Amino acid sequence: MNRVYNFSAGPSMLPVPVLERAQAELLDYHGSGQSVMEMSHRSKWFDDIIKNTEASIRRVLKVPDNYKIGFFQGGATQQFAMVPLNFMTTGKADYLVTGNFSKKAAEEAAKFGEARVVASSKDRNFTYIPDVKAIDYDADASYVHICQNNTIFGTRFAEVPEVEGLPLVADMSSMIFSEPVDVSKYGCIYFGVQKNVAPAGMAIAIIRDDMLGKSAKSIPAANIPTMMNYTTLLNKDSMYNTPPCWCIYMTGLVMDYLEHDIGGLDEMKKINEAKAKVLYDYLDSQDFYTNPVEHKYRSMMNVTFTSPNPDMDKKFCAAATEAGFVNLKGHRLVGGMRASIYNAMPPEGVDKLVAFMEQFRKENA
Ligand code: PMP
Repeated sequence: MNRVYNFSAGPSMLPVPVLERAQAELLDYHGSGQSVMEMSHRSKWFDDIIKNTEASIRRVLKVPDNYKIGFFQGGATQQFAMVPLNFMTTGKADYLVTGNFSKKAAEEAAKFGEARVVASSKDRNFTYIPDVKAIDYDADASYVHICQNNTIFGTRFAEVPEVEGLPLVADMSSMIFSEPVDVSKYGCIYFGVQKNVAPAGMAIAIIRDDMLGKSAKSIPAANIPTMMNYTTLLNKDSMYNTPPCWCIYMTGLVMDYLEHDIGGLDEMKKINEAKAKVLYDYLDSQDFYTNPVEHKYRSMMNVTFTSPNPDMDKKFCAAATEAGFVNLKGHRLVGGMRASIYNAMPPEGVDKLVAFMEQFRKENA
């Protein structure tokens, strides 16, 4: 077996013990004589899977009892529309634009009401997070939306914004389960699963009870399309229709791994901090590669860097691929390189990448 170190921003690496367990259970899941891919979502086996998956998310993330957890198709992008459709009760919401996905979320919300951009870091190409203490929120906003970690630009919020009693809604797609989160500070947390949680094909939303049962001012609750209505879907325990069964099963395996192999999110955070430190310390120790992000806001998951010029970036990516470090090419909006070092990237993957980078620097500086 010759597995590569995959630095993709998502879909991305899954922990090997999780893949091995999925493999071992593939043909005959727990004596059912079938795989999870084949079984009815109304079967007793799947009923256990979905309930156990939800219960382990609750334990791992310490989700309070007054929050519901839902499994939805349509990825995080569909959440950009579901959030305003379900929560924009006053017809207004405040958005912090700190990158491409928060910009898209704001644009989607503007289809349903007034999506006010209350802060943006566009002036310096999204290389920092605006001062969250200096933001003037609209007291009449239904919620405040942030993207907690900006996958493309490699930034993250250093602190959770204080939003003056308004519900805080956060896209956590590229940092969820990388460290503990105080769920009680949020009205809604959502994320696509294809980075730290499971294979692509699902989003998870964690929603405080009092946010449910409502709709955007511009649309009566009864007119929200069924598959976009959190309240309807959560009242049916994400089983209104056929759910993304395989993704839910794999999420459960990853939760087991986080809980029992890693020992929870405090431990996961230590491992992730150490990995990110190795890479950032190296970037700060030389001047061939550059990371443009203001230090305080550097992402623990997505590390961007450039070499002296775009031709060298190309050469770097080609040589890295050859050496077994794949998907290091940066997003087209930023150029250069990006190493996504999610939970499943082993520490030795980062150590070896740094050794490779230093070798490449010596040969090309
Ligand atoms: N939000 C963030 C922070 C992301 O990184 C991504 C995908 N890279 C998305 C939203 C969009 O997710 P999806 O492709 O699941 O719609």
